[in-house]
Amino acid sequence: ENESTVSITVVGASGDLAKKKIFPALFALYYEGFLPKHFTVYGYARSKMTDAELRNMVSKTLTCRIDKRENCGEKMEEFLKRCFYHSGQYDTQENFADLDKKLKEREAGRASNRLFYLSIPPNIFIDAVRCASLSASSGNGWTRVIVEKPFGRDSESSAALTKALKQYLGEHQIFRIDHYLGKELVENLSVLRFSNLIFEPLWSRQYIRNVQLIFSEDFGTEGRGGYFDNYGIIRDIMQNHLLQILALFAMETPVSLDAEDIRNEKVKVLRSMRPLQLEDVVVGQYKSHTKGGISYPAYTDDKTVPKDSLTPTFAAAALFIDNARWDGVPFLMKAGKALHNKSAEIRVQFRHVPGNLYNRNFGTDLDRATNELVIRVQPDEAIYLKINNKVPGLGMRLDRSNLNLHYAARYSKEIPDAYERLLLDAIEGERRLFIRSDELDAAWALFTPLLKELEEKKIIPEYYPYGSRGPVGAHYLAARYKVRWGDVGVDQ
Ligand code: NAP
Repeated sequence: ENESTVSITVVGASGDLAKKKIFPALFALYYEGFLPKHFTVYGYARSKMTDAELRNMVSKTLTCRIDKRENCGEKMEEFLKRCFYHSGQYDTQENFADLDKKLKEREAGRASNRLFYLSIPPNIFIDAVRCASLSASSGNGWTRVIVEKPFGRDSESSAALTKALKQYLGEHQIFRIDHYLGKELVENLSVLRFSNLIFEPLWSRQYIRNVQLIFSEDFGTEGRGGYFDNYGIIRDIMQNHLLQILALFAMETPVSLDAEDIRNEKVKVLRSMRPLQLEDVVVGQYKSHTKGGISYPAYTDDKTVPKDSLTPTFAAAALFIDNARWDGVPFLMKAGKALHNKSAEIRVQFRHVPGNLYNRNFGTDLDRATNELVIRVQPDEAIYLKINNKVPGLGMRLDRSNLNLHYAARYSKEIPDAYERLLLDAIEGERRLFIRSDELDAAWALFTPLLKELEEKKIIPEYYPYGSRGPVGAHYLAARYKVRWGDVGVDQ
């Protein structure tokens, strides 16, 4: 193994994602000692750049973790020396053949393994895969391709993309990335459930009233709405990130932790879901708002967005899993841009205690007295459980307190970026956190009819002010299922 090499080619190296996430993640893996001894990183894009220019560009975004600062500069130099650049078109096999020659030189006769990271707009995925696989595949090792979302925009286009990719690659070579699956607390969901006696027995309709999956951003498209406008928040966040979390949350116990065992269970959940109805969905779009003398733009003020766009920047939905475990339990999703805060969290609201001796201490608001488990995926990772507790003293007053696992307080380590975990897994051939094609099909099957209906009927989004908590429609939707969103409560 020591004598094999890994060459990582970042296709679209001049772009935003490459700079912000991919190169920094590769560097972090390097200084943590996770990259193999013989590795090379190649940047590939049409822009003209020398190796030195690429290194200079990349060096600006590399960082070291707080506890690794001493030899940081030295490590960066070492890493940058292993980075190279090749300029070429995405649809020209000869350009990839030239890359192949350069890769061979670096591999110096060792067994070659090649990873291509497609960090390019989706309309050129297939060209790039065709050229890379025909002209720059490894001759004697593995060749893998990481594909970034969007994986199509509905069932048909996604199936067409899969079909085209499979002309050149086997399913085992395709690594569809959903970076939410690389997030520490999402990975931890299985640990929490399956290795703590106190959670798994409660993980069903018997004890859980509802589950909430919430994503919010406190900024809008800010001049980068071109891509977004063609997709909208449902495709951008719900159909992938939130649905993936839901599947992991709700799946049955897998046979083992092997990728196929886990993904089999996730697909089962997705296929057990009830088709989404239009009346179970609320869509919104942010409008301009002035606060404290500052004026914030409307979505349609973004120059890259058509003035009459109906694209949702907010959506809330009630979903149901029609299986024995979850029958009747609402899974509520909420995702939006330009809201009052930035966060991603999972909230599990438990049922009332039957015949609770302390009911009269709660007054009329019995819902508020139920337990709630919150998994805060980002920022400021935490897991906390709301419990009822006696306020110390001679009276009998109860309040709600948190049993709180606050990551920053408990673990002094900085949490690795999701892209580090995922790149490492791709290098090691671990597929657990990547999306299999049948999972993707099931995810699109759930959302495609709804998306078509929204678009065909030209449903007008509910407008909400930039920086607010989103449209009130989301509250009415939840109320229909006797649910109150947990994130508008009084969390610490
Ligand atoms: P990007 O900056 O727009 O594009 C990456 C590179 O692709 C560009 O530097 C450009 O390189 C080339 N390119 C751009 N438009 C092209 C076109 N029309 N035809 C041919 N080449 C073109 O994209 P990105 O933000 O880095 O994202 C890369 C991929 O990751 C996309 O599929 C995106 O959907 C996905 N993604 C991005 C993010 C993010 O945070 N940015 C998050 C999740 C997923 P040259 O001109 O030098 O060839």
